[in-house]
Parts: sequence; C-alpha cells; structure tokens
Amino acid sequence: MIKVAKFGGSSLADASQFQKVKAIVQMDPDRRVIVASACGKAHPKDHKVTDLLYLAHAHRQYGVSFDSILEEIAQKYRNIQQTLHLQVDLEKDFAQLKEWIQQQMPIDLIVSRGEYLTSRLLAAYLGFAFVDASEVIRFRYDGQVDYAQIEETLQKYNERPMVIPGFYGAYPNGEIKLMARGGSDVTGSILANVMNAQEYENWTDVSGFYVADPRIIQNPLSIKRLNYQELRAMSYMGANVLHDDAVFPVKSKNIPIHILNTNAPTAPGTYILADCTQYDLVEHPYPITGISGRENFVAITLTIPGASTKIGLLQEVLRIFAEFRVSIECAPINVDTLSVVVQQQAVDHQLYDLVEHIRKRVQPDDIRIEEHIALLAIVGRGMKEKLGMSGQLLSEFGKHQINIKLISQSAQELCVVVGVQNRDFEKAMRCIYDKFIKEVQPQ
Ligand code: ASP
Repeated sequence: MIKVAKFGGSSLADASQFQKVKAIVQMDPDRRVIVASACGKAHPKDHKVTDLLYLAHAHRQYGVSFDSILEEIAQKYRNIQQTLHLQVDLEKDFAQLKEWIQQQMPIDLIVSRGEYLTSRLLAAYLGFAFVDASEVIRFRYDGQVDYAQIEETLQKYNERPMVIPGFYGAYPNGEIKLMARGGSDVTGSILANVMNAQEYENWTDVSGFYVADPRIIQNPLSIKRLNYQELRAMSYMGANVLHDDAVFPVKSKNIPIHILNTNAPTAPGTYILADCTQYDLVEHPYPITGISGRENFVAITLTIPGASTKIGLLQEVLRIFAEFRVSIECAPINVDTLSVVVQQQAVDHQLYDLVEHIRKRVQPDDIRIEEHIALLAIVGRGMKEKLGMSGQLLSEFGKHQINIKLISQSAQELCVVVGVQNRDFEKAMRCIYDKFIKEVQPQ
C-alpha cells in the first residue's frame, strides 16, 4: 500500500517544521511518496521562497540588483541545513541560480528552484531518494499531463521511498514547465493516480475544510467528509484549502484526498471523496456540509415582459456577457425578469458599455444595477429532498432582518446560493452557522 503525502510551504517553512514532517512520515510506513512545496512563511513577516524567486526574476528584468533577494533565499535553506546537520551542499545550486537569473533564463526554470531545493533537503533529512520532478512529471507539448510516460518512469523506482518536488514538470525536450500557483497539490494528485495510492494526503496548516470561514466564525467545526461537488462549490465560493484542479487526477480512480494539519497531526482532518454514499448510509450526513461566500458582486436585472418564455432571450443576453469576456455567477429568471450576477471587478471598467449593448440588442423595458452584493453558498449533499429546508433557511434570514436579494438553487439540490447586501454578509453567515451547524452538530 502506498500513500502519497504532499506537504505545503508552511509545513516546510523552517527546521522545526521539517522535524514535524519527519515525525509524520515516520509514523506510517505507507507514506513513501512525498511531494514538497517550496519553503513558505515561517512567521507573518517572512516571505515565501516562490514569491522571492518571482521577485528576483522581475528585478533582473528591470536591471535592478537581486543579490539581497537571493541571499534571503539561500539563508533560509542554509538555516535548515545547518540546524538539521544535513550533508547536502546547496552552494553550487545557489551559484547556478544566480547565473540563470543573470542570463535571463525562463521564469519557469527559475521559480521551480524553490520546490527543487526544499525537496533536496527533505530527501536528505528523511533518508529518501530525491527524484526530480523534471524527470518524473512529464507534459506533452500541448500542456497535457503525459500519464503513460510518468508511469513508465516511476516503474524504474520500484516503489522506493522518495521525495519529489511539486509545482513543476517538464516537456518532452526537458524544458521545465510550471503549474499554476499552488500546483504542488496537483503534483501529489497526479502521483497518487499513477501509483494507485490508497490515499492522497495533503498536509497543510489547517485541520481540513472548515464548515464556515474562520475569519468570520470563531473556531468553526471541521468538515469530516465531503464529495467533489461540495468541494467545488465550497472552493469556488472562497474556501481555499486545496487547488481546484487537484481533484481531477484522483477522480477516475476514486482515490480519497485527506486534508491534514502538520501542526496538529492527530486531528481527524477532512476526507474528500468522489462519492460519500457508502458512509452516508451509516452516518447520515448533516443537511448542511458547509457555508462559504464572497462579497462584491453586481446584479444586472432586466425587465422584459414574458422573459421566461421568450425563446433565445437568455442565449442572446449570455452572448453579450461572453463578448465582454465576463463570466456569470448565476442567472435567476422568472416571469418578467432576468438577473445576471457577475463579479464586480469583472465589469469595473465596462459596466456602462455592457449595459448599453444589452439595451440595444435585447431592448428590455428596464435595466437595474445593484452593486455591493455578497453571495453565500449553503452547500450540503444532505439537503437533497429534505422537505422544508429552503423554507427554514429563508426564514432564518427573515428572523435576523436580512434582506434577500436573490436565490438560486440547481435541481441537484446540493447548493443554495443566496444573494444579500455586502453589509449583511457576515451576519448572514453567522445566523446560518448558529442555526444549522451549532444547534445541530456536536461541538
Ligand atoms: N510554491 C508554489 C506556490 O507558492 C506552489 C505550491 O506551493 O504548491 O504557489
């Protein structure tokens, strides 16, 4: 059995974090494929190595000295190496990095060195093989992951314990390709797929997904289990624990992702599964799995007599938004009105232009714009077919004098999106938490 364990930047920020990681890895012999992020912040005023590498590259481009930035990076690694007495000489790597920046080598190569250096140290500390991601994580020239090639390469290592840098891989010609920020989550997921891992552990600095935003709700409960659709709904609406794309590689093989906290390794964390049914039959999920949300949306409401029966109307309106390259959050429609909700920042400089186009092409009787809208996503697989659920939710808003601007729920019944004014956002989250989580789930 193999577990792929990915440790994020904060889990590897300094020597004491490395010690915690080693203790975790040694606790379970199945943890044999370790994916490392670049060292993150050791304290709030510290800098992430990845950010420093981007900064050094930018300094070089503007012809400004980047020596002090490189020194800050090197010092971070030297501290870890010296404190843990590791027999790894990184001085040559630092010198090479300097040369590469000087020569304006591709940014992907430069920035990948954060994960590379962290993994070199971690491999030495754990006594595992260091396997470079440029050798293992292969992309085709179109940017797609080449699973067949990855599988072939990994066979050579015969399930040896290893540390692999996250966040990058290579094209067939060996050139480094970076993933999107936070991409080490995806590296771990790709490896879990190829190694047919029993579980993909994702170690971070929170004890899993919280039921609600901890910046608003003090000490919210952690979610025990959630399925992929719930995860997507929660993350899209602002709960950022795992990279959005990390579910795709493990999905086809139904490999569970387990979010765990390096600083509290015995906390149960959160399991993310393609399908939770087998557990739900025994445990019966709470109606609401989680609440997330974001502020600063705009609702553009068109009044058109017979809007809901006019064939092609919705298509025409959506086409206009597509032409302005504005993505739509939700578009509730009823008898004579259609509201389109979009992010404020997406229309900031083109709102009136966009409205003019709508006016000319759709000729509504009226167009109303409401800014400062917040959307709350109330997410739960347990809400399906639960009679009276929406009624209870809405009456809770009424009880707390929160005016609902819009409501949207798909036929899947997994997520109810409620639009309120920005100023009511926190209050709304609190009242739903108090009523549907605090009163229902054991603390
Ligand atoms: N180090 C990269 C970042 O800060 C990638 C990662 O941590 O996953 O985004």
